[in-house]
Amino acid sequence: MDETEAADPAPGAEDPGFPAYQASRSTGLAELDRRVAGCRACPRLVAWREEVAEVKRAAFQEWDYWGRPVPGFGPPDATVAVVGLAPAAHGGNRTGRMFTGDATGDFLFAALHAVGLASQPTSVDAGDGLTLRGVRLTSPVHCAPPANRPTPLERDNCRPWLAAELDLLSPGLRAVVVLGGFGWQALLPVLAEAGWRLPRPRPAFGHGAHVVLPATEHRQELHLLGSYHPSQRNTFTGRLTMPMLTEVLREAAGVGGLGQSSGESRQP
Ligand code: SF4
Repeated sequence: MDETEAADPAPGAEDPGFPAYQASRSTGLAELDRRVAGCRACPRLVAWREEVAEVKRAAFQEWDYWGRPVPGFGPPDATVAVVGLAPAAHGGNRTGRMFTGDATGDFLFAALHAVGLASQPTSVDAGDGLTLRGVRLTSPVHCAPPANRPTPLERDNCRPWLAAELDLLSPGLRAVVVLGGFGWQALLPVLAEAGWRLPRPRPAFGHGAHVVLPATEHRQELHLLGSYHPSQRNTFTGRLTMPMLTEVLREAAGVGGLGQSSGESRQP
């Protein structure tokens, strides 16, 4: 993982095939999501996501895989964003919805439901009726990478999508929960570039990390919270437990003015 804080210019600013050109031209999240879903800027990831969608896993042979970039999921007036790593090959890359269809998503949605931010504890496919309350799920890389490892260039290619998404959310955005160190390192340059003032030394990732970025002339105060990623590896080994994740999400919900709900959530 590249620990660099300052973002180099994203590749392709003059090329309509790149997010650096497309992302800032999106006037709303719906348009941004449509543009994300059509992106083909990373040849290795395009080839991988499409090959996986063609070959499929044995258990999902009947599925018509999405096989494209997976846009963020959640209402446009969300006050909390949850930033992960990248879609899973047979999860989001299959279902077309962020975190949907794999064990990581099962854990995350159960936690979101437990703190009243998801209408149901399960997330099976894009048509299962699940809604989120005040929270938007996204990732610094929108295509499933081989071995869950995007390259630094792929991360940089994709960065303008995340920057534009946070910018469109920013009038109401109060907190960002980052799942894992990759997301944390990918997010810091985006926040700095977007005008939030980061402390020096730069805040280190850790589970339970909570950093408050002060308001600036152009940006509201923003709370940055860290959680271990709810990967199978972390949840099976007990490195991340359900109470650990719900505690971080509850803290973010409080900061985001979402309060506590009974678990029955509604789309704002
Ligand atoms: S990873 Fe991001 S930049 Fe690369 S092809 Fe997918 S959506 Fe486009």
